[in-house]
Amino acid sequence: DSITVGELAKRMGIKANELIRELMQQGSMVTINHPLDFDTAALLASEYNYEVENVAFDEATILEEVPVIKEGEEAPEDLRPRPPVVTVMGHVDHGKTSLLDAIRAANVTAGEAGGITQHIGAYYVELEGRKITFLDTPGHEAFTAMRARGAKATDIVILVVAADDGVMPQTREAINHAKAADVPIVVAINKIDKPDSNPERVKQELTEFGLVPEDWGGETIFAEVSAKQHINIDQLLEMVLLQAEVLELKANPGKRGRGIIVEARLDKGRGPVATVLVQEGTLHIGDPIVSGVHFGRVRSMVDDRGNRVDEAGPSMPVEVTGLSGVPDAGDLLYAVEDEKKAKDVAQHRQQKLREAELAKTSKISLDQLFAKIQEGDVKELKVVIKGDVQGSVEAVKDALVKLSTDACRLVVIHTGVGGIIESDINLASASDAVVLGFNVRPEPKAAQLAESEGVDIRLYNIIYDAVADIKNAMEGLLAPTL
Ligand code: GDP
Repeated sequence: DSITVGELAKRMGIKANELIRELMQQGSMVTINHPLDFDTAALLASEYNYEVENVAFDEATILEEVPVIKEGEEAPEDLRPRPPVVTVMGHVDHGKTSLLDAIRAANVTAGEAGGITQHIGAYYVELEGRKITFLDTPGHEAFTAMRARGAKATDIVILVVAADDGVMPQTREAINHAKAADVPIVVAINKIDKPDSNPERVKQELTEFGLVPEDWGGETIFAEVSAKQHINIDQLLEMVLLQAEVLELKANPGKRGRGIIVEARLDKGRGPVATVLVQEGTLHIGDPIVSGVHFGRVRSMVDDRGNRVDEAGPSMPVEVTGLSGVPDAGDLLYAVEDEKKAKDVAQHRQQKLREAELAKTSKISLDQLFAKIQEGDVKELKVVIKGDVQGSVEAVKDALVKLSTDACRLVVIHTGVGGIIESDINLASASDAVVLGFNVRPEPKAAQLAESEGVDIRLYNIIYDAVADIKNAMEGLLAPTL
């Protein structure tokens, strides 16, 4: 994975002597056959407006070697059932936190040794010997933030709907997020202890979203619970296990561990501490690991009961120490064959990160849409529509969907009334969608996020303008925005 001075000069079409002179000025005395490492070569080349692609040292090749057997080629006899991983979503105040607490508490009273003592961002419970892992951050922020990073951490979503309140805006958002991620939903109708609760009405409302209970001829599993009074919590867990059975979740615990960072922080005494949800293989103490731009060895692992563990298999959350820095939630963590490889991958990523910061990665935008359609890169334009009144949102939606062509289908993945908020941007970023605002503006935080994620936001006051823009963008006729 190096290139000689002579070879680099040749590829850039300049004289080797010129390059040697340049290097001398930078303080290194080299000959024409001197090998250059990737960083030096890239830096030199950039001075001549060339980019060096690191083919021999591509991260993909490094990471592909990581699993002993590649995905899809997994031998069936190596696969073992693994617990489902569940995220709780729903409208604010409908009882997400209470439900997570009730589930945690229900498990303690089940008489298991050592209740869940640590808040590490995820925990597991056991029901008659079968485990379920819960991500402990309720709401769809965590869910989409992870998905925006291309990570799928959740097998099942529990949608909490308060029986006295029914379907609310964030209920709809949660449904859209789960659907966009293709994750099945188990509905928990909560607060059934309340005198004004009306579970039947909630069921009725949810049918509009394709969530139809089994006894009404549909396929969605429902449970009626009270998080506060701890009613039917076990039954809900049963339902989750039932849904999990349908999914036939499996993983091979026999290979090197790979997991996802659920949360991470810097601990004064222990250094970087990351909660890892193991997704494949088994993670062991001492394993060389890499996550994002950080690397190291697993120094210690602690589970949600505060127990030190030596290994963690599929679907198990553990707190891991030993990384060189604090990774981001949603980053993947890989065990690799040795620490050198871990370091190489991490450093290569740091390099790439620097490059990416320079060339600010941007997601799909209307400006490049036509080119991408022509290159066959884009077959669907996904849009999120926010507007000041339901009527105009619906009107824009109807008009847009009609613009679909054979080359490019138009898909509205989410609509809503109100300003453009962070969760809209996260959804758009995760799904590679553009955001259309109709007589509304992005909130400052959402605007910032859109900027950093490269999400295209377009604001309109007139329906005709919105439709014309999209039509023009699809046909390559959009006037450039300056
Ligand atoms: P979140 O915003 O979705 O996390 O909702 P919380 O779990 O914070 O609950 C919001 C409020 O609803 C709190 O005051 C809870 O005590 C209450 N609550 C949650 N579950 C129930 C329930 O099953 N019955 C009743 N009566 N109140 C509940």
